[in-house]
Amino acid sequence: MTRNIQEAFEEAIDFVNIIKKPAGTVSLEERQKVAKETVENFRDYINKGFLEYRKSVTEAGEFAVTEWTGQGSILKDALDREYIDILGGFGLYSYGIRHPRIVEAVKAQLDRSPQYSQEMLDPLRAKLARVIAKLAPGDIQYGFFANSGTEAVEGAMKLAKFYTGKKGFISMLKGFHGKTLGSLSLMGKNDYRAPLLPLLEGIRHVDFGDAEAVEYELKHAKAVGDEIAAVVAEPIQGEAGAIVPPDDYWPRLREICDKYDVLLIADEVQTGFGRTGEIFGVDHWDVQPDIMCFGKALGGGVVPMSGFFSTPKIWEVMEPNPFMHTTTTGGNPLACASALAAITVMHEENLPAQAAEKGAYVTKRLRELGERYPGILHDVTGMGLLIGMHFVDDEIGYHVASGLFARGVVTAGTLTNAKCIRFEPALNIPYELLDEALNRMEDVFKSLNVS
Ligand SMILES: *Cc1c(COP(=O)(O)O)cnc(C)c1O
Repeated sequence: MTRNIQEAFEEAIDFVNIIKKPAGTVSLEERQKVAKETVENFRDYINKGFLEYRKSVTEAGEFAVTEWTGQGSILKDALDREYIDILGGFGLYSYGIRHPRIVEAVKAQLDRSPQYSQEMLDPLRAKLARVIAKLAPGDIQYGFFANSGTEAVEGAMKLAKFYTGKKGFISMLKGFHGKTLGSLSLMGKNDYRAPLLPLLEGIRHVDFGDAEAVEYELKHAKAVGDEIAAVVAEPIQGEAGAIVPPDDYWPRLREICDKYDVLLIADEVQTGFGRTGEIFGVDHWDVQPDIMCFGKALGGGVVPMSGFFSTPKIWEVMEPNPFMHTTTTGGNPLACASALAAITVMHEENLPAQAAEKGAYVTKRLRELGERYPGILHDVTGMGLLIGMHFVDDEIGYHVASGLFARGVVTAGTLTNAKCIRFEPALNIPYELLDEALNRMEDVFKSLNVS
């Protein structure tokens, strides 16, 4: 692209003017122009691969679907078409899109002070840490805030290394912890790691759900002097397809980690804050991890937010030099306002209980669909509203995802990875919308004509 500074400024000015127009006052013509240009911009300035992979999005109309606004569990594209959101941003939108109470708090904080001087003490961050300390199990108390889930995991790994003086980790096959180099080292999937090897040293991967495999690795690591700092796992694997471990898994992990004197890290980035039917995933088994990672829903779906928390005993290593781990924008006042408001919403709307109840309902209905239309959906897994629909193969999964999309239901499902698709809507999605989404899903199943 040839450099053109004048055009760069002009285009920015034009777009800011569109952004600044009050909701509902951007003309359809303007939005059509935006939609058309967005496809070109993705192709020319982001990554054309997206347009190929997100086929369900590009096939739905004359232009790729361009997200414009949304409210609750309804997304609206630039051409005014409406979609029921059962993807929930992979757990980002636990409270729905633009929850009014969260938006209200963020707007108020925006007018007071959106960012932070880096020098004075920030009351919002301090309060949020205190609130999370009270929500979290056991003596989890001190925390550090960042912007993305992967940063929370990176911080947790550093803390475990500082505290134990050891460098190894045990993590789980198919586990997902984010895509920066440290988190990626923990990931249990070949595709994303192989081109980047070597990653961090001393990481061993074992099957998720198999506590004895963890003990085996710890025993062997110890015998040969490979020291392990921590065991890292998601309470319920999200990205892997809402995989629930056996009931004694987390209690056993706790016992084994104590026995071998290694830390237990729960990556609650997707499971935290009500998603699985309890405030935290580990609450299902009453286990207290040594370090917990949060993200996604923590920011209330309005401002990005993440964090990792631990116990006073472990946190002591961070105290002599609190600058061993820092971030300029993590835990900024806007993000904290968003998170604090989100926590009030979780309480007022009793979201963990809603997730448990609706999760049971959806799971039952999906299983019925699977039976009524054989050869499509062979398993439904998960807990609360972290549900995995396991299709017979990628192709069928992809047809379901694109069929849903064509019928105005947003879910994830790329051409190459659609064997399992998550059903992960906002926890406060009304039953009518759930039913509507499920009815449209039945319509897709019917149209597939498999048996
Ligand atoms: C999404 C996710 C992450 C990474 O979060 P990002 O904000 O995408 O970096 C980490 N761990 C788990 C369990 C996740 O689901």
